Amino acid sequence: MSANDLPHWRIAGLRYYALNYFLRGKFGQRVQKVSLNAGFTCPNVDGTVAVGGCVFCDNRSFSPSRRVPRGAIRAQLDEGIRRLKWRYEVDHFLAYFQPATNTYAPVDRLRQVYEEALEHPQVVGLAIGTRPDCVPNDVLDLLEEIGERTYLSVELGLQTIHDRSLDWMNRGHHHDAFLDAVERARGRSFELCAHVMLGLPGESQEDMLATAREVARLGLGAVKIHNLYAVRNTPLADWVASGEVRIMERDEYVTVLVDFLELLSPDCIVERISGEAPPEYLVAPSWCLDKPALKRVIDAEMLRRDTWQGRKFQPHPLPDSNPASLGLS
Ligand code: SF4
Repeated sequence: MSANDLPHWRIAGLRYYALNYFLRGKFGQRVQKVSLNAGFTCPNVDGTVAVGGCVFCDNRSFSPSRRVPRGAIRAQLDEGIRRLKWRYEVDHFLAYFQPATNTYAPVDRLRQVYEEALEHPQVVGLAIGTRPDCVPNDVLDLLEEIGERTYLSVELGLQTIHDRSLDWMNRGHHHDAFLDAVERARGRSFELCAHVMLGLPGESQEDMLATAREVARLGLGAVKIHNLYAVRNTPLADWVASGEVRIMERDEYVTVLVDFLELLSPDCIVERISGEAPPEYLVAPSWCLDKPALKRVIDAEMLRRDTWQGRKFQPHPLPDSNPASLGLS
């Protein structure tokens, strides 16, 4: 491969297309996400799809779709920005609607909370986390309208392409819901980011890499990759404690993560390469708490293999949205 063929982030010395690098290139300076709670709930919790939620999700605090008072989003942003500025040299922020399902409300209410965030003078864009079965076309139209005037990343929970794993986690939808959402969102003005989990019980290395190939095939703009971890007060925490579920060791995770990155497109922004929770809340694995050490091991493995994101990427023909033709379960 000649220098001309290298992705720009490789020339900059990176081995994957990291979010910080992308944001710096786009905005010319450091940009941080500020997490916001807009008071949404989730159809997987309130009984619309299921109750209890996903087995790894502590959703006891989700509110029953209450309307946050005007000014509440602004106050959360001010507080979040104050904390981040204490730690980093940063003046620009993305308002990140993170907990619960942040498109699960009527369009007029969604518009109100998104607009309130965008009114903040230091907010340069939005990130919105949601489920693939919660983006009806009127919501996509709103997101498109917003994406035409600001940077917008819509984070869809893919987790895995394997329906048996989605059933295990009580996800309340199958992979066809993700395909449907991507098909309806494709070509709109915002970036689509898939959340993926590695280390789900019953998934082999090859199963996880099939999810990587699907992210690549679908041509998604970004991906967030998490190791499976357990937090208190969840079914998963009980299963880990009883030995019913085994959580991957760090070296296993690093191996599959690097394999996963190799299969992605070089153009896919990698927003996360691990997941973790606050120590007082985390049940397992403890290794994910030391992010700098984990990052060092991942970097060392990529260096040892002399590999990088996209090294095994196979360009795909036009996306095929028929799950049957993919041989999916
Ligand atoms: S879809 Fe998201 S918010 Fe809803 S229960 Fe699952 S993880 Fe929690």
